[in-house]
Amino acid sequence: MAEKRDYYEVLSVDRKASEVDIKKAYRQLARQYHPDVTKEDPKVAEERFKEISEAYEVLMDKEKRELFDKYGHAGVNSQFQGGGFNWNDFTHQGDIRDIFGDQGGYGNIFDMFFGGGRSRGPHQGQSLRYDLEITLEEAADGLKKELTLPLTVKCDVCAGTGSKSKKEEVCTHCGGKGQVQRVERRGHSQFVSIGACPKCHGSGKDIKDPCPECDEGWTRKRQKISIDIPKGVDTGMRLRVAGAGEPSPDGGPPGDLFVVIQVKRHRLFERDGADLLIEQEISFPEAALGAELEMPTLKAKAKLNVPAGTQPGTVFKLKGEGLPHVDGHGKGDQYIKVKMSVPKKLTSEQKDLLRRFGEIEPGKKSLFGRGKS
Ligand SMILES: [Zn+2]
Ligand SMILES: [Zn+2]
Repeated sequence: MAEKRDYYEVLSVDRKASEVDIKKAYRQLARQYHPDVTKEDPKVAEERFKEISEAYEVLMDKEKRELFDKYGHAGVNSQFQGGGFNWNDFTHQGDIRDIFGDQGGYGNIFDMFFGGGRSRGPHQGQSLRYDLEITLEEAADGLKKELTLPLTVKCDVCAGTGSKSKKEEVCTHCGGKGQVQRVERRGHSQFVSIGACPKCHGSGKDIKDPCPECDEGWTRKRQKISIDIPKGVDTGMRLRVAGAGEPSPDGGPPGDLFVVIQVKRHRLFERDGADLLIEQEISFPEAALGAELEMPTLKAKAKLNVPAGTQPGTVFKLKGEGLPHVDGHGKGDQYIKVKMSVPKKLTSEQKDLLRRFGEIEPGKKSLFGRGKS
């Protein structure tokens, strides 16, 4: 395991940071690593989120912060129930609610992070990730996509009971709860632990005549899932299809499916957020005399006026020719960077004209006198 990072470093705050500073830093990072908006891998984001929350928990608590300042992690770990930080130890759920709203469009972060920690009840099924590649044009327009994915669903044959005769019987070992308590004695102490029932492996069912088509009522089948990809999506954005993940092993809610967007490289345009960038070669006469160019845009074409005396490297803007902002507010722009093309081959007429041009250009005469051929 990697060495545990310093809490101040985790939140990028000064060792003398005030509570207000710490709160601000946490707020900003929490937004960055929220599972619905982050560009990180979900697992990484989850770990990061936990790491910043642990740092926040410690630095906002006067006593814990003092212990940490004096003894480092060793001084604080014993303050947590399990000898190390766990979501159970987090006392600032209210702040998370303030940041993300109770439900307010941001999925249910409480289920994601606190589901397992707050209660010993049923667990949510595993979430799945699917990487979807789309073109830049598709990203600009948004699209409805139908995916066919192998998902774990209830078996039709036995109606999800797992039993050939569709008879659902409760596991006698755990009484259908799927979990059993175990009492262990170590020295003078007794330890109570709760674990999956060894007989039914957590399902709570006792299946006497197993269905031949499935595994305890679950089977893998290709399923059609349709998703709306919003206009302006960018690489790394994740779309959540609630409930399309793996089923819960013990009667809890299913996991989610996260569709991770990958936008393909375009042959002409580079993308920078909602803006598009393109390089355009122009000739010396066009730059010197000015020209009207026809530029490709993502959808069509647009006219660009290059004024007389344009220098190489000049950047022009076509307003509103970029991609829509993913939040639905307006569009980006298209930027055109002008490059000067110098001809490699010239006809003798062109050479003569250029020599004459050089001769009449003030101050440059000596350069063009040489190398006549
Ligand atoms: Zn079945
Ligand atoms: Zn059981």
